[in-house]
Amino acid sequence: MKQHLLYEGKAKQIYATENPEQVIMYYKDDATAFNGIKKSVITDKGRLNAAITQELFTYLAANGIPTHLIEQLSEREQLCHTVTIFPLEVIIRNIAAGSITKRLAVKEGTRFQQPIFELCYKNDDLGDPLINDDHALALGLITPTQLSEVKRLTLAINTLLQHRFAEVGIDLVDFKIEFGMKQDGTVVLADEISPDSCRFWEQTTARKLDKDRFRQDLGEVTQAYEEILARLQA
Ligand code: UDP
Repeated sequence: MKQHLLYEGKAKQIYATENPEQVIMYYKDDATAFNGIKKSVITDKGRLNAAITQELFTYLAANGIPTHLIEQLSEREQLCHTVTIFPLEVIIRNIAAGSITKRLAVKEGTRFQQPIFELCYKNDDLGDPLINDDHALALGLITPTQLSEVKRLTLAINTLLQHRFAEVGIDLVDFKIEFGMKQDGTVVLADEISPDSCRFWEQTTARKLDKDRFRQDLGEVTQAYEEILARLQA
């Protein structure tokens, strides 16, 4: 089933299958931060992120969000529709944390009056710069119709995920998602949604349950990822 390696990113590998319309996504334990400057291995992260993504994509699909996910094949492997990924990191911020606290001098933990929708141009050499809709359209990274669809889906995903995490006592602070286009032209949610790509704070204690434990050397990184999965599966 699994054929040659098509692409290797920082945290995942993509393999061809005998069907050109399907690929296999493999989750690694490798962790990077600060645009690849900090590197390490987080024990079991691949297994945990695959399982967390499986839970969340299944929940979103059940609530009308189209995704690239077909099925989980093993602890670290998912069968997915082949997509062309838009070179955009789509970010939603509900509560201030990370780069925005410095960029706009907002105190960490400030709840925004409405969710902030951001785009970054996926380009490692440039350090994934923040861009606006006009840049994305002018550079031809996405069409106007596709961008409208991405925005609509992203806001719907935020509402669904905020609700899902609130049920298990977690604040969804911010997250990054990626979209792709299937061969039939449909825009779908792709990549992953995991503690690598989101900020999760325990509501009662503000304890960080995400990759900031790795970025900031807070310790108990695997335990935080396990905690997220356990709450979603409870
Ligand atoms: N994020 C990500 N990949 C990136 C950059 C950001 O998954 O390359 C996620 C990050 O985990 C957080 C959100 O996007 O949940 C907003 O990140 P921010 O811009 O604050 O950047 P950071 O401070 O994480 O570098």
